[in-house]
Amino acid sequence: MSYHHLSVSGNQIELPTGKVVCVGRNYADHIQELNNSVPDEPLLFIKPNTALADMNTSLLIPPGNCHNELEVALLIAKPLQVGTSYSTEEVISSLWGVGLALDLTLRDKQSELKQKGHPWERAKAFDNSCPLSGFVPCDEVSELQNIAFELLVNGDIRQSGNTRLMLNNCIALIREILTCFTLLPGDVVLTGTPKGVGPLHSGDKLSARMRNNGSKIALIDVSTTVV
Ligand code: ZN
Repeated sequence: MSYHHLSVSGNQIELPTGKVVCVGRNYADHIQELNNSVPDEPLLFIKPNTALADMNTSLLIPPGNCHNELEVALLIAKPLQVGTSYSTEEVISSLWGVGLALDLTLRDKQSELKQKGHPWERAKAFDNSCPLSGFVPCDEVSELQNIAFELLVNGDIRQSGNTRLMLNNCIALIREILTCFTLLPGDVVLTGTPKGVGPLHSGDKLSARMRNNGSKIALIDVSTTVV
């Protein structure tokens, strides 16, 4: 399936698809639930653009213990060059907007790879491993570091997070990424998952929501089914 970035209203955003730069262990409660330690520097990994899928359609998951990780996603609209220092305003003005992503993870495979000291791509970078919602323009988000988001599976809240609880906030995370990788228009940054990761099964009904903290109105409200 070819994928195009979409706005929350379902219109195509005129940006190419690009890589997805992800951070591991950016919320203390999730580090705790997997008995991991807080890394000395943000743990970065990449999914290719073939990992992208549309969260508005059914979720295709591979066989195995495939876990949900709901994360706030940032869509890059203007290039940010590696090794360059940008002001907070410059970083924010390079963003098209904010959305939700699932960082689908084959957890048993990941544990096996971690044990062997091998890279994680087989567990995290497979096709359709990064379903994305539509994106909301940044000016509709009242505060980047105070976004509430949650994932319901079959009507039960499985993950409930808030970006104020990130260990590295969005700007710090992008600055860290820029020590290694240039970000190009169409690239996406995933900002880490809070606790509540767990296995998904065929037939599960998922709803993902995002809202400004304190508001009852959802900026994003997307539902899908696992096939
Ligand atoms: Zn993740």
